[in-house]
Order: sequence, then C-alpha cells, then structure tokens
Amino acid sequence: MQYRIAVLPGDGIGPEVTAEGTKILDRIGRKFNHSFSYSMGAIGGNAIDSTGSALPPSTLDSARKSDAVLLGAVGGPKWDNPLASVRPEDGLLAIRKELSLFANIRPVKVFQELKEASPLKPHILEGVDFVVIRELTGGLYFGKPKRRWRTKTGKRRAIDSMAYSEEEILRVLRVGFELARGRRKHLTSVDKANVLESSRLWRELAQEIAPQYPDVELQHMLVDTAAMQLVRAPARFDVIVTENTFGDILTDEAAILTGSMGTLSSASLAGTPSSEVGAFGLYEPIHGSAPDIAGLGVANPIATILSVALLLRYSLGLEAEALAVEKAVDQALADGHRCADIVGPGETPIGTLEMGETIGSRIGP
Ligand code: NAD
Repeated sequence: MQYRIAVLPGDGIGPEVTAEGTKILDRIGRKFNHSFSYSMGAIGGNAIDSTGSALPPSTLDSARKSDAVLLGAVGGPKWDNPLASVRPEDGLLAIRKELSLFANIRPVKVFQELKEASPLKPHILEGVDFVVIRELTGGLYFGKPKRRWRTKTGKRRAIDSMAYSEEEILRVLRVGFELARGRRKHLTSVDKANVLESSRLWRELAQEIAPQYPDVELQHMLVDTAAMQLVRAPARFDVIVTENTFGDILTDEAAILTGSMGTLSSASLAGTPSSEVGAFGLYEPIHGSAPDIAGLGVANPIATILSVALLLRYSLGLEAEALAVEKAVDQALADGHRCADIVGPGETPIGTLEMGETIGSRIGP
C-alpha cells in the first residue's frame, strides 16, 4: 500500500527526532511492502521566521492531503517573548483545531529496564501498561461563558464553564471502548459525577453505549480516586478515558511513572479507530523542543519512534507493523542501549542517530 505522511519537524530537537521516525517508517515499508511518501511542512518558530505564521496555509494543506501527520516539537528561547503577536505554540493549537483532533491518546508503559528512572518504587511499576484518552476540544478550556468582570462593589469575579454536548462525549467514549477492545478489554471512565452535572451526563452516556461493547468491562472512577490510584496501583489500568481538564492533569501525572520524557509518545485523533479502519491523526512525542540539547545529536528518538508505531496502528490500521516497531524498541532497551536521558550509572550513552539505527536494525534492512 502507498501512504502519504505529512512531516512537520518543528524546532529544536524536532528535526533530529522526526528524521529517525521517517527512517523507521522506511524500514517498515521495506519489510512489509508498503511505500511511504513524505511532505515536509514548517510549523512553530521556524515557520514564524520564514512566513510570519506559526502554521502556514501550505503546511495545513499538506496535512489535510495526508493519511497522517508526524510532528516533532515547537518553541524555543528565540521565540519566547510573551509580548510577541504570534508564538510557536499557536501553530500547535491551530493545527489541532483545524484538523478537528478531539481525542488525545497517551500510552504509558514502564519498560522493565528503566524502572530505576521512575520516582516510584519498582514493585508498584510492575506490569504498568495503559493508555489515557483525553478529550481535547471541549470542557473547561473552551466552554462559554468564560469571562472576568467587576461586580457592583468593584470586586473582581471570573467564570469558566465545563460544557459538553452529547456528541462530544460520545465520540471520545467510543475511542475509549474501541481501544479497550484491542487491548485487555477494560475501560475506566473518569469523571466527577458526585458534584459535576457535565460528569453526570458523561457517566450516563458511558452506561448507555456500554451494551454496544459487551466484550469491554466498563468501570467508573472519580477523578480524585484516579489521581491516587495512578501512583498507588497503576498496573490496574488498561484504558482510561476522561474529559479535557482531568485528562490534562492525569496525563502529566501518568508521564512521571516512566521517569523519562524521551520515551513517551502521543496521538491526537479526528475519528474513532477500529481494529480494521484507521482514523486521521497527528502523532508527536510528548516532550518539547529541548533547546538545551538541540543540535548536539543526543536527543532520545524513542518517543518519536513510538509515535510512529501509534501512527501505523491508529491511522493506517497496520497492527503487525506497529508491534514490529514496539518490539524493536523493547529489544534495543533490553540489549542495554540507552540515550543520555535514560542512561544508568556506569552505562555509556549513545546518540540520536545510533539509537535510531539500533532500533531500525531490529526491524529489518
Ligand atoms: P522539553 O520537553 O523540551 O525539555 C525538558 C527537559 O527534558 C530538558 O532538559 C530536555 O533536554 C529534556 N528532553 C526533552 N526531550 C528529550 C529527548 N527526546 N531526549 C533527551 N532529553 C529530552 O520542555 P521545556 O524545556 O519545558 O520546553 C522547551 C521548549 O519546548 C519550550 O519552548 C516549550 O514551549 C516547548 N514545548 C513544546 C511542546 C510541543 O511542541 N508539543 C511541548 C512542551 C514544550
């Protein structure tokens, strides 16, 4: 099959890590007889420098014409002026909105070899392998009314609204059920139904569609309990689905379980992927542009390479190919290869290119 991938390297280490990502796709192409073509686009700080916009129309156009988007990272001290009229992050927000990416997916898997890098005790991390799905376009961050004003007494007041429509909730819940179906068939729907009306609607809708997924066990959990269980017994989770603000906080909490930014991938989807059909999506490492190490050739490309695995799985429906990438990463780590961010005492780190090559060689020529 032929696939067209829009590659948006961005700033800082973005170009270094996305280059390793496309090399992995090329290897997958050779091994499984697919052909990947890449359209390169500017986004973030470099796009501001060259066009004045953080998301030039040509980039958006090439993303729309692609089967999936692979993104590096944006931002850096050069564009940090808070008074600037356009900022690199504007590019990220704009592309998410323009492509209607409503479900953000973050897998959290603790590699046995890297358990020491986590702030949690090793026995708590045993078997941790779950996915968090965060609703990305609704809730508290976007709901109206959203404003600040002065009361008659001159005191300041402000309001944000956690607003959700039935359609917005249902489409992200479906992503949760579908992903659980392809995994250990357990879905935890996280809400605050004891106090929030939008959460009560969320819970009601989850219960309503659960019979359509009889193979998936649905559990409801309050967000405060979920925050606690994520550090007390994280291995109990398989798939978590939750609204925007809860997801924002829980995904950051979950990220620290693994102990390293350089290994965490993410997907943002515009549809519901099923086992047969992919959904359009944007794939990126969760880390930023790491300006402190940009250009040094030491950035860990694993987060980007694992994002490529998600791209194969969720947008192209290529499960065997996705597993081949994940297995190659597992093997490279099991064989003791480490970049500087995950190196242990007495170990010698390898660079970005070497790590890409080491993982790639475990996939094929
Ligand atoms: P960061 O994730 O870029 O870096 C945090 C620390 O982790 C740094 O010490 C960095 O060297 C290290 N690190 C990150 N990725 C690594 C990798 N792959 N390998 C090895 N080490 C890695 O976060 P930051 O320093 O807070 O932000 C830097 C810039 O990135 C800022 O301009 C910020 O706005 C931007 N940012 C962008 C995104 C994105 O594009 N999605 C996300 C977060 C931050």
